[in-house]
Amino acid sequence: MKIAFFDTKPYDLTYFEPMGKDVGIEFLFYETKLNERTVELARGCDGVCAFVNDTVNAAVIDALYSMDIHVLAMRCAGFNNVDVRHAEGKVHILRVPAYSPYAVAEHAMALLLTSIRRIHKAYIRTRDYNFSLNNMVGFDLHGKTVGIVGTGKIGRVFADICRGFGMHILAYDKYPTEMEGVTYTTMETLLRESDIISLHCPLTEETRHLISYDSLPLLKKGVVIINTSRGGLIHAEALLDGIKSRRIGAACLDVYEEEGDIFHEDNSGHILDDDTLARLISMPNVIVTSHQAFLTTDALCNIAETTTANLVSFEATGASENEVLISHI
Ligand code: NAD
Repeated sequence: MKIAFFDTKPYDLTYFEPMGKDVGIEFLFYETKLNERTVELARGCDGVCAFVNDTVNAAVIDALYSMDIHVLAMRCAGFNNVDVRHAEGKVHILRVPAYSPYAVAEHAMALLLTSIRRIHKAYIRTRDYNFSLNNMVGFDLHGKTVGIVGTGKIGRVFADICRGFGMHILAYDKYPTEMEGVTYTTMETLLRESDIISLHCPLTEETRHLISYDSLPLLKKGVVIINTSRGGLIHAEALLDGIKSRRIGAACLDVYEEEGDIFHEDNSGHILDDDTLARLISMPNVIVTSHQAFLTTDALCNIAETTTANLVSFEATGASENEVLISHI
């Protein structure tokens, strides 16, 4: 099988190249992202492999179909960047539903601890021999209330971690399931009562801008908001206003609504056109990481394993248990 692999980073080569060789898949690695202009690079291949910030819209799907390419393996869990409805009957979309919920949940907690204990500030200060503690006061997590939106694989691991810290746990999920030590409630109560809110639901039409201008007046003053899920869950300008008005105490963002052409790339030395992102990054109480919550050796290994297994299964049977179906959206 010959697979065009878009948005390649050095860590992808480490895992995908040897695993592909083992199962007879030749990956053609392209650094460029997949979109209407680059899809032509896939001509002559049997399939395509794409990631979170590739564009898989109707035009890209039609182009693949016209090149007789009928399988696209997403090497991630989310598929909000894929027009699944348009792909039906043309291109099979495969994905990696679970590779390490621990990687993402642990990153969410790392961001939270960094933010509230000012570790990012301390690191810079002590390197400059500045040992002052001014403006470094944090707060205990023990006894605080965390609101978790989405208690699937990642949300549940995050809840377990929070329980270990002695926190009270509120949760909101469209499909709640029993969980020890977790109290399900409405989204409104979660917004009103949480000291910390962590988002772990997928980005859908329903969840877009879950945190918006409408949410701001409901939030507890000083709330810490963590988003390791998808940028579109938060209206970024509303978040910025919430921070400027001091209603939101801190934000920990691994994802950003307009991250597409910015995250995962070295933009140092460039002028950032996105004023909202620039302003967010300039805030002392905002931490931004570059959609890296998944980036552990364990997760990368699992991603490569499942992606190649999905392709092998598709080649052998025309199907994969990890196909995205219309019923999933
Ligand atoms: P999952 O499917 O196991 O869980 C998602 C949960 O969200 C489910 O319990 C579901 O019922 C719930 N949900 C669905 N619609 C909802 C709604 N309208 N309101 C509230 N809850 C709703 O997914 P997961 O593996 O836990 O991943 C969660 C998200 O994390 C993914 O969708 C993906 O966007 C994101 N993610 C980010 C990274 C990263 O590197 N930052 C890595 C992996 C996944």
